[in-house]
Amino acid sequence: MKKLALPVVLLLAPLLASCAPGSAADGAASEAPPPPAAGEVHWSYEGEEGPDEWGELAADFAACEDGDAQSPIDLPDHAGQKVTGHPRITSSRTVGESVDTGHTIQLVPDGDASEIEWKGNEFGLDQVHFHMPSEHTVEGKALDAEFHFVHTTESGKVLVLGVLAQGGGVDNKAWQPFVDGAAEPGSDELPIDVAAMLPADPTFEEYAGSLTTPPCTEGVDWVIYHEPIELSAEQIAVLKGAYEGNARPTQPQGTREAYEGTITLNQD
Ligand SMILES: [Zn+2]
Repeated sequence: MKKLALPVVLLLAPLLASCAPGSAADGAASEAPPPPAAGEVHWSYEGEEGPDEWGELAADFAACEDGDAQSPIDLPDHAGQKVTGHPRITSSRTVGESVDTGHTIQLVPDGDASEIEWKGNEFGLDQVHFHMPSEHTVEGKALDAEFHFVHTTESGKVLVLGVLAQGGGVDNKAWQPFVDGAAEPGSDELPIDVAAMLPADPTFEEYAGSLTTPPCTEGVDWVIYHEPIELSAEQIAVLKGAYEGNARPTQPQGTREAYEGTITLNQD
């Protein structure tokens, strides 16, 4: 794990919930005295502040323990049922900055990097970050890494586009700026081309889940590409040098169904 100088941690506190959109930390009931804001409570991936304890660390982390629609889950190789409607993603080339949140590295676009239209909503990309190994498993198996493209609407609905990744390929040029940003957090002007970062096969599995980091807020629409991308062993090694072991264990699926569909990609 990387260590941050304390002033940097304080500056980044609103961003600490890595799966959360930047402004998701409020919403606690206003009865006195208020609990600490989600971003100020320390949590980790092991020991006394690890995933089994998240629900006890703060009042507004309760969903981590009590929720019944939590993420990640173990995905089927192919979901039997088809999604309703048809999502459409529009990708635009832009640049962004890499940010060390204390739990992962985020790539934060300066401009509009991608927009998803689905079910009457328009979701814009807030940031991309990674987990190592993958959080979602496929038929019980974790992959080397998982990237989360966190998209939100203006009213705060969250859709996370998930991309699984496997090492052992050639250098993946589209992901090299992300890798460079992980090697040196605080880098800016990093090129972002979402269309080139996504798998070629547009098939995805969808289900209703939660943020995979505290406060584990539910109501998150998960859209996870079926086909993993390939990175080189060197690229995986650089990401591991930044963060490793930052994956929440899979959660009970309960009565939730997974659905399969295809996404249409447009490029500006
Ligand atoms: Zn995530």
